[in-house]
Amino acid sequence: MSNIVLDDLQLVPRGAVDQNSQPLNAFSVDVEEWFQVGAFEKTLNREDWPDLESRVEQQTNKILKILDQHGVSATFFCLGWVAERHPALLRSIADAGHEIGCHGMDHCRIFALSAQAFEQDIRRAKGLLEDTSGSSVVGYRAPSFSMNSDTWPYYKLLEKAGYLYSSSVVPAKTDHYGMKGLPRVPFYPINNSNFVEVPMTVAQVGGTTLPASGGGYFRLLPQFLSYFLMNKAYAQTGVGNIFYMHPWEIDPDQPFVREAPLVSKLRHYSFQSRMAGKISKLLTRGRFTRIDHLLADQFSVEI
Ligand SMILES: [Zn+2]
Repeated sequence: MSNIVLDDLQLVPRGAVDQNSQPLNAFSVDVEEWFQVGAFEKTLNREDWPDLESRVEQQTNKILKILDQHGVSATFFCLGWVAERHPALLRSIADAGHEIGCHGMDHCRIFALSAQAFEQDIRRAKGLLEDTSGSSVVGYRAPSFSMNSDTWPYYKLLEKAGYLYSSSVVPAKTDHYGMKGLPRVPFYPINNSNFVEVPMTVAQVGGTTLPASGGGYFRLLPQFLSYFLMNKAYAQTGVGNIFYMHPWEIDPDQPFVREAPLVSKLRHYSFQSRMAGKISKLLTRGRFTRIDHLLADQFSVEI
């Protein structure tokens, strides 16, 4: 395990935080197919992916419609795999005023890739996303938040490939991902560099650190609990919520993978029909924007 030295390289929000004002949050979408998730990795073979029913375009369009109804711009971290097969989708996301970010080529966790393979992956995906969307890509999100202390040197490869920020860590240990002890606000993961890591939001409750960034937690938890955790995180850090979701989370009609483990099925399929309504309510209650705009507005980061 390599050591991580962060010194005091955490970014602080510009100006004093007014606890009574509405925080500016970021909304992000990890654009991937329903069959590319960790929940089904032991059940569905990657070789069979091309034969499975593609639903990413229609579900992402649903999210675009909800965001449009609320006048919200967001960041869409897209797989190169999706860009190759659905170039028109990439164009419509960008044309609607959203930021295109990179989620890697085909959802491999990055600790499973050698440095050389990782570099190829992020460069190839960036090229594909930029060519199809017509906009530049400066943000990256590791599949399944798989950045860890062993892959920390990969930040330099991201910077070298032209990325300016990443949003790839959860500063809490969960059963699937996360690292304890990381800053809970944006920070510089590389010494003497302006490259920024925007960690996912977590809240401290008692002695426990809990994810408060959306995704499955937002879909599965009662709404009052999600809002409690998000409000708590803001009160504790002064930084708005970094929210994320997936297109497959608002798709109650997607194929059912009977052979998957029971816990994976419960997590993946539960409450999908309620998600669109929950998202609309969230966007009505809070202020949201793209991650690059949040960095520019709150932290004076030049993107
Ligand atoms: Zn993902």
